Amino acid sequence: MNSFFKDFVEVAKKIYGEDSIPLHRPVLEGNEKKYLEECIDSNFVSSAGNKVFEFEKLVAEFTGSKHAISTVNGTAALHIALELGGVRYDEEVITQALTFVATCNAISYVGAKPLFIDVDLDTLSLSPVSLKDFLEKNCERRIDGTYNKISKKKISACVPMHTFGFPGRIGEIAKICFEWNIPMIEDAAEALGSYSGKLHVGNFGLMSSLSFNGNKIITTGGGGMVITNNSDLASKLKHFTTTAKLPHKYEFLHDEIAYNYRMPNLNAALGCAQIERLKEFLTIKNELADIWESFFDPRKVKFFRAINGNKANHWLNSIILPSRTERDNFLNFTNENAVMTRPVWKLMSQLPMFSQCQTDGLKNSIWLQDRLVNIPSSVPDRDLKNILF
Ligand SMILES: *Cc1c(COP(=O)(O)O)cnc(C)c1O
Repeated sequence: MNSFFKDFVEVAKKIYGEDSIPLHRPVLEGNEKKYLEECIDSNFVSSAGNKVFEFEKLVAEFTGSKHAISTVNGTAALHIALELGGVRYDEEVITQALTFVATCNAISYVGAKPLFIDVDLDTLSLSPVSLKDFLEKNCERRIDGTYNKISKKKISACVPMHTFGFPGRIGEIAKICFEWNIPMIEDAAEALGSYSGKLHVGNFGLMSSLSFNGNKIITTGGGGMVITNNSDLASKLKHFTTTAKLPHKYEFLHDEIAYNYRMPNLNAALGCAQIERLKEFLTIKNELADIWESFFDPRKVKFFRAINGNKANHWLNSIILPSRTERDNFLNFTNENAVMTRPVWKLMSQLPMFSQCQTDGLKNSIWLQDRLVNIPSSVPDRDLKNILF
C-alpha cells in the first residue's frame, strides 16, 4: 500500500508542478483586477452597485433559474431560504448528517432542529429510499403538513445537499417531498455547474442556496446566492436580505425586521470575473478527474463518479479507501509529504450541538465517514494533456 501512497504524492506534484499542494485554491487570473478597479473608481464598493445585479443575472443565466438573489455568504443564503420557506421555531428539518456544519447551523438559526436521514453510497447525498422509508414509518400527514409521530413536531422542510458537487437523486427526493407536502430547499453550495439530467441542480425545489466562499468552484472572496423559480419569493428574498427598505429618493423607510445580508459590490465584481471562466474550469476539472481516475486501481480504491444521468462539477475529487486504518495511513502520509488530503466532515449527528437529534441509523453515512477522502482538486495552471497512466 505504501508504494501507492508514494506514487500518489508524485502524481499530485506532477499535475500541479508545485512542492506544496492545497486541496482547493481559487484561480484569479481573468478580469478580477479589472472589475475591482472599476468598482473602486466608481466609488461603489459596498452594498449598492451594478456588479451585484450583473452577477445575479449571470448566475441566474448559468443555472437556468429565473431568479438569483445574492447574499453575504452561503450560510446566510440558506438561513434566509429556510425562513422564507416557512420554517419556524420548534419545527424539524430533514437533512443529511454527512454535510458541512453550515447546513445545520442555518437550520438552527430559525429555531428548528435537524432530523438526520442517511445518504446513498453511490451519490453521497440524501437517499430517497431512506427518506421515504422514514416518512412512512414515523410520520403522519395532516392538513397543514407532515408531522413526526415520535417528536410530535412538524417537519417543515427537507434540505438535501449535493456533496462535493455530486448531484443527489434530486428528482426522486423532490417527488417524495411533494407527496408529503414538505417544501424542499437544496443546499447546492458545492454544486454550481452540476446537473441532474439536463437540469442544473438547485432548480428542483422551492429555493436553493449557493456559496462563493474562497474554496468553492468560483469565489467572490465570501458570498452566497439563493436561486428560485418563484417570482413572489424572489422579491421577498431581495427585500428581506436588504433591511426591508422601501424604495424612496431620500427617506429611510423599512416595513419589517429584516437582515443586512447584502453582498458588497467588490465581492460581486470578483464573481462577475470568476463566472466568465466557469465553463473552462468545469472542462479542466473534468479532465483532472479523468487523470485521477486512471491513477487509482479500482480493486483497491474507488474513485468517486456521478451516477448515470447526472453530471458533477468535480469540485472536490473524492476517493473511498478500503478501511479506516488505510484512510488514516493515507491522510498521514500525504499530508506529511505536503499534498493536502482531507477526510469527510465528522457527521453532524456526532457533534455536541446536534447529538440529541433524531436519526434513521445513518448506516451508509457512518461507513463513508471512515473511508471517504478528498484529494487535490484545484484547476491546475498547466496543460494536463501529457499526464496519463
Ligand atoms: C460552503 C458551504 C455552505 C455555505 O458556506 P459559506 O462559507 O457560508 O458560504 C453551506 N453548505 C455547504 C454544504 C457548504 O459546503
